[in-house]
Amino acid sequence: MRIIRGKYGGFCFGVKRAINMAFERSESDKNSTISTLGPIIHNPQVVKDLEEHGVQQVNSLDELETSQPQTVIIRSHGVGPQAYREAEQQKVEIVDATCPYVKRIHVIVTDLVEQGYQVVIVGEPDHPEVRAIRAYADEKAVVVEIPDDLEQVDLSRKIGVVAQTTQSQDRLQSIVWSLLEKRNSEVRIFNTICDATDVRQKEAVELAQQSDAIIVIGGRKSGNTTRLAKICSRIQPQTFHIETAAEIDPAWLQGKSAVGVTAGASTPNYLIEEVVNVLETLAQHSGSTEKKI
Ligand code: SF4
Repeated sequence: MRIIRGKYGGFCFGVKRAINMAFERSESDKNSTISTLGPIIHNPQVVKDLEEHGVQQVNSLDELETSQPQTVIIRSHGVGPQAYREAEQQKVEIVDATCPYVKRIHVIVTDLVEQGYQVVIVGEPDHPEVRAIRAYADEKAVVVEIPDDLEQVDLSRKIGVVAQTTQSQDRLQSIVWSLLEKRNSEVRIFNTICDATDVRQKEAVELAQQSDAIIVIGGRKSGNTTRLAKICSRIQPQTFHIETAAEIDPAWLQGKSAVGVTAGASTPNYLIEEVVNVLETLAQHSGSTEKKI
């Protein structure tokens, strides 16, 4: 059995940066209580590791003890402008780990609103990144997931479209085409899908085509990992989404000659290594080789 490991799986630039910032802060700042606003990434193993380094998680600034110095790390998904204002009022120090690609969307949306555009966000309405982007549009942006959702958009207004960074190009394209067909006003389109996502998704398709089973590693609450698993399962029904190596069922590998391995942007390298090690052990009898695509 061959194990084909994708080279783009695992932490993307923005997640790596945010996690490094959190660990660095936990090392350099022993005077304040350090918290992340929401889980720093959708990976329970990394969140636990940070907790062991003294970095807690809060879901709102109201949960902070104001009697002692507090530092809050903003995760790569970003937050709306209100959170910065509240932190300033509460004298909470901010370590801003918002991914620069996400920050760029905040700037675009702020400009669009100032220029009188109706903002349309292609993305998941409840995803924290989308909620934050919406906050920069004074909560007035319309979030669409499928072309039918465009019914909520006032087509007589100038429209500006942005996308959640982890959306697929196909989804953005189908919504944009539908919008262009219906429009009766100016439409500006900003393709804000992140390259890291795009490259990973293309590689996942390639992997799924080459393998008789594919393992997708990452948190079950991670939107980009779930999407990766969905993309793979459309091509390869034998797609298994796992969080850790402990979930691998040897029966999945029976009779397989090639197994692909990929991982979401919030999956640490050590978890990928563990999965590959378990697969290698299970494959030993069939004379496996590991190959990177
Ligand atoms: S997927 Fe892209 S936009 Fe999102 S955190 Fe990673 S690098 Fe930033």
